[in-house]
Amino acid sequence: MAQIRIENLHKTFDQFAAVHDSNFAIEDGTFFALLGPSGCGKTTTLRMIAGLELPTDGRILLDGEDVTFRRAAARDIAFVFQLFALYPHMNVEQNIGFPLKCQGMPRREIRERVRETARLLRIEDLLPSKTSKLSGGDRQRVALGRAMVRRPKAFLMDEPLGALDAEFRQLMCGELRDLHDRIAATTIYVTHDQLEAMSMADQIAVMNAGRIEQIGTPQEIYDRPASLFVADFIGSPPMNFLHFEAALEPGSRSVQVGNASIAVPEIREGRPSGPLVLGVRPEHIRFSDTGALRGRVFGAEYLGTTQIVTVETEPGRVRARLPSSLPVEVGEIVNLTFRASRLALFDAQTGSAIKTESHESVGHG
Ligand code: ATP
Repeated sequence: MAQIRIENLHKTFDQFAAVHDSNFAIEDGTFFALLGPSGCGKTTTLRMIAGLELPTDGRILLDGEDVTFRRAAARDIAFVFQLFALYPHMNVEQNIGFPLKCQGMPRREIRERVRETARLLRIEDLLPSKTSKLSGGDRQRVALGRAMVRRPKAFLMDEPLGALDAEFRQLMCGELRDLHDRIAATTIYVTHDQLEAMSMADQIAVMNAGRIEQIGTPQEIYDRPASLFVADFIGSPPMNFLHFEAALEPGSRSVQVGNASIAVPEIREGRPSGPLVLGVRPEHIRFSDTGALRGRVFGAEYLGTTQIVTVETEPGRVRARLPSSLPVEVGEIVNLTFRASRLALFDAQTGSAIKTESHESVGHG
């Protein structure tokens, strides 16, 4: 399998920079997700790695070898699209074996490789079936089989589950990750769906407007977002943002938001000042008798074991994830406390996270 390295990758269409100076390294066997909203440059990045698009600048290295100008067919990488067209006049076995037939592999060998692939995908019983008779999920498995049968160095997947309904997508996410664990193939998976990326990937690169905002494990990205964009994009319901003005000193351990003094992780770098943003995830908020921030309950959404309670406070609306067993009445005045160690601070102008002690600890303190 393969290590993939991207160095200063850049792509412009006319004057428009679709991908801006991207850098990352994917270790052998890693499941790597490229995550971001529509139009942020995910597909363009993937197409350059596949050899379907030429970069304007930068290099692509596959196992240390520069493949930037090598044609797609010579890169030994399999590309799986969302709507992978299967050949309707061939059965499943012929569809999966087709790439090997094109390579001129002897028939007996093709048969063995197709069976082995079908076994891995648990679709052996489907081999004689016509593809037109298959469900969406099975079609996707056959498409994967056709990509896997060549034993490529890496898999590139562009929203492969996009066409499936939500329930099936969840099932396929589990299957794809399970398959990845069994064959340990380096995989780059493009998606705009944070839950897909969070549930499957070892590493996630979050993209925004052609740039990579952050690369990290799902937990690093969730717990210590590098920017307001990442903090907002990851998490459902999203992180709450409270805007305030301040001039903070290194070592500061509290901020004044409206008329509330809120304990925060210690400031470790610089003297953040001007318009700042305090970020708090809904699950790090509790009601208390003497909380820092007062507000009025605006509404509550019941979600089974938890409820999302929206509270109007002076600096803005805050959504808290609380146990459903907690009695909450619309209109009541409540005090909110935040779990200090899990709060994030951002510079409102640059959007960058401010370095605090929480960046130095991975724990859940
Ligand atoms: P989506 O999920 O909607 O496909 P994406 O993140 O994959 O989004 P890209 O398809 O990489 O985004 O597109 C990035 C930007 O580059 C978009 O603004 C798109 O319009 C533009 N773009 C992509 N391909 C071309 C092209 N061939 N010519 C001109 N502009 C292009």
